[in-house]
Amino acid sequence: MKMLVAGEKVGGKELPVVFPYDGSVVDVVPDASDEDIERALSKAVEGATVMKKTPSWKRAEILEKTAKLIMSNLEKLTDLLVLEVGKTKREARSEVIRTAELFKMCAEEARRIHGETLPFDSLKGSESKRGYFVREPAGVVVAITPFNVPLALCAHKVGPAIAAGNAVIVKPATKTPLSTIVLGELLLEAGMPPEALSVITGSGSRVGMKLVKDPRVRVVSFTGSVSTGETIAKEAGLKKLCMELGSNTPMIVCESADITKAVKATVSGGFSIAGQVCISVQRVYVHKKIFDEFLSMLKISVESLKVGDPRDESTDMGPVIDEANAGRIEEWLNEAVRKGAKLVTGGERTGTLIQPTVLAQVPKGTFIMTEELFGPAVAVNEFESLEEAIHEANSTKYGLQAAIFTNNLQEAFKAIEELQFGGVIVNETARYRADFMPYGGYKMSGLGREGVRFAIEEMTEIKCIVVETGK
Ligand code: NAP
Repeated sequence: MKMLVAGEKVGGKELPVVFPYDGSVVDVVPDASDEDIERALSKAVEGATVMKKTPSWKRAEILEKTAKLIMSNLEKLTDLLVLEVGKTKREARSEVIRTAELFKMCAEEARRIHGETLPFDSLKGSESKRGYFVREPAGVVVAITPFNVPLALCAHKVGPAIAAGNAVIVKPATKTPLSTIVLGELLLEAGMPPEALSVITGSGSRVGMKLVKDPRVRVVSFTGSVSTGETIAKEAGLKKLCMELGSNTPMIVCESADITKAVKATVSGGFSIAGQVCISVQRVYVHKKIFDEFLSMLKISVESLKVGDPRDESTDMGPVIDEANAGRIEEWLNEAVRKGAKLVTGGERTGTLIQPTVLAQVPKGTFIMTEELFGPAVAVNEFESLEEAIHEANSTKYGLQAAIFTNNLQEAFKAIEELQFGGVIVNETARYRADFMPYGGYKMSGLGREGVRFAIEEMTEIKCIVVETGK
């Protein structure tokens, strides 16, 4: 597949895209040259002027058309996601539908970008002034996306960037660039000015870094790991930065909780996309009175997951992205067991397929308790008091989302108020996300917020207008 430089299809030195399930080559994409990157940037500056002059009804129309085109390419995009990410057909299809819905939300928000009037008579001496502020497009947005949810997370950046009237250059993950390139083609078909859109492929450390450092770029919207986020933050210079990073998500299950629902939430939150989600449920704290019951129900549920070829409609869980990550995940699980964790189920690995794993009584300080696993396993520990559970949940450098299951209002509000996370979910999986929600992290999990309206705020500049009336 060719990449898109200012709307034009461009080839180059080839990089393979591999099917994580069996290692076969799905397609190749170009490794962008320095000239390609320069052309994308200089055209984006022109594109930003074109976009600024494009009225919001027209931008909304482009976004609405894109949503329709995505749905008419549902099966093509689904198949590409299965092949490049290794996610199951069901997961891939729901990502495509989610992406179309996101573009519809962006179209709606494009029509409601506005400022406020300012109360100048509230300041003694300013009574004769009138004024207001507006939101203007930021200019050139660089969107850098991760491998795990390539289409929907690209939409979370490109949709708001267009809604706000910006030009955008996308740098998808090298392992999963195909669906993003197709999305770029659909945006052009929907009427996106070509100079205002590039999807360029190649390594993050070279292509991504060149884009991040360029002074013509005003916004870098990044989703990926904490370590890459930190590198970008150091190198970007004075730019608006939006950072959606990793986590190691906790979930608290109180004595009063509906155990069946909590078990279901742990399975759906811990094992979808083989645990490769930024808000995958990773640490579960269960009240000691219901601990044994919870664990035995969880074991049955996890053992019923069908693991295998993601192309098969009946598969519940596919492989992880590559052998290197599979080996790392296996080692982290072994480390926990070596240090005293009980292996309740799973733990085996064949190539990139890891059996869904449950560990119990996992010691503090192990990788699974402190780092982001990004693999199909949950650690289940017991607690006596809610204070203790909240303290443990907060004992992390991350802070994206957390959840509590309880039927006690006081417990729910204690958790809502004391959990140090960008999102607290009550009686639903910690992996829950609706795309209009403000979404982002405390601590090392990020900077700024996504979620259509909030991303638009990050991608616009406020201009303040003051008029002296002479009255
Ligand atoms: P990653 O290794 O950090 O890569 C993310 C993107 O950054 C890729 O496009 C990568 O390009 C690029 N990149 C790498 N080094 C770069 C550099 N020096 N300068 C500019 N760009 C650079 O992350 P990943 O493994 O793809 O994704 C998994 C991570 O994403 C996890 O930590 C997960 O939690 C996080 N994530 C967060 C959210 C959220 O919303 N908070 C959502 C999904 C995922 P290459 O592919 O070419 O290396």
